[in-house]
Amino acid sequence: MSATPDAFNAWLIERDEGGYRCAPRTLSAADLPEGDVLVRVRYSSLNYKDGLAVTGKGKIARRFPLVPGIDLAGEVVESAASDFKPGDQVLITGCEIGELHWGGYSQYQRVRAQWLVPIPAPFDARLAMGIGTAGFTAALAVLALEDHGIGPDLGPMVVTGAAGGVGSIAVVLLARAGYRVVASTGRAGERGPFLRELGAAEVIEREVLAAPCRPLESETYGGGVDTVGGQTLASLIARTRHGGAVAACGLAGGHELHTTVFPFILRGVSLLGINSVILPPERRRRAWDRLAADLPVEVLERLIRVEPMSRLRELAEDIVAGRIAGRVVIDVD
Ligand code: NDP
Repeated sequence: MSATPDAFNAWLIERDEGGYRCAPRTLSAADLPEGDVLVRVRYSSLNYKDGLAVTGKGKIARRFPLVPGIDLAGEVVESAASDFKPGDQVLITGCEIGELHWGGYSQYQRVRAQWLVPIPAPFDARLAMGIGTAGFTAALAVLALEDHGIGPDLGPMVVTGAAGGVGSIAVVLLARAGYRVVASTGRAGERGPFLRELGAAEVIEREVLAAPCRPLESETYGGGVDTVGGQTLASLIARTRHGGAVAACGLAGGHELHTTVFPFILRGVSLLGINSVILPPERRRRAWDRLAADLPVEVLERLIRVEPMSRLRELAEDIVAGRIAGRVVIDVD
């Protein structure tokens, strides 16, 4: 007998002659895709990519119909995989759920065991989704910089889009690792004091890096974590010191990058690409271990806002418009 109820709530993206629609739907177990583990999803989260998928403003969904939501957390209900059993607390970030495979905006989901990560202490499902893909990406960026040999002694590290999900968690992780953090934000007035509380030593206006600049500016920073792309990323590269590195995570301000080879060949600057979707399980666990060690629960709580799944459409519009600060956890019940 299936442990899934006859009817449960989800959001579904459909695309047909009527166009692209994302709306609440009632599903049953028979609607769920194949997979070796059935999860009772308790929470999902809202990422920039989810905003694009729900609003249809970006080509995120690659299969129709599709349950969106690139993150999920909850407990295992049924498992045909030896490494998971009913009751286990698990999470998924990325792995193409909410893009190619059915995702987290559903009270139940059937998934592949290889995508699952046990929720690490001290987190629970709600806190894990407070981190979600955004926080996980911030951890991957910090690990990439460290693995490249970039330490606090090289100079201040800039975090762009600092008030957003990736940005705010990157500020916390870098500050706790001993870097002097410069938070770049378009909301310095509203969020500046909070970013300082998170560990930023300095808060600069978004316009500073968004302005056109020369290929090489004065060497100011050890590098940074960039979530904005476009001119902001080009400006950060131009200001990065000899031997420094920038972890490129996002495109909230644009997907283009116009720069020259000078920072790379004259200063040995490195551009480190961060992809949180597809990566080896060891790296996934390493990033979660780092978050468990360096992101205190009381700090995370201050970054989180829990919202019901019924508000998804409005929240999706907000994140795409840059109106969301910190992290939004989606309560799927
Ligand atoms: P958020 O919306 O939470 O944060 C984005 C931040 O970027 C905003 O809070 C704002 O920060 C800033 N911003 C928004 N619009 C603009 C603009 N037009 N110009 C300059 N800055 C802008 O999104 P996430 O943190 O979830 O994601 C951030 C980026 O990282 C996205 O592009 C996302 O697609 C990408 N990403 C990539 C991943 C990967 O695997 N590489 C994984 C996760 C996210 P402020 O108010 O401080 O200026």
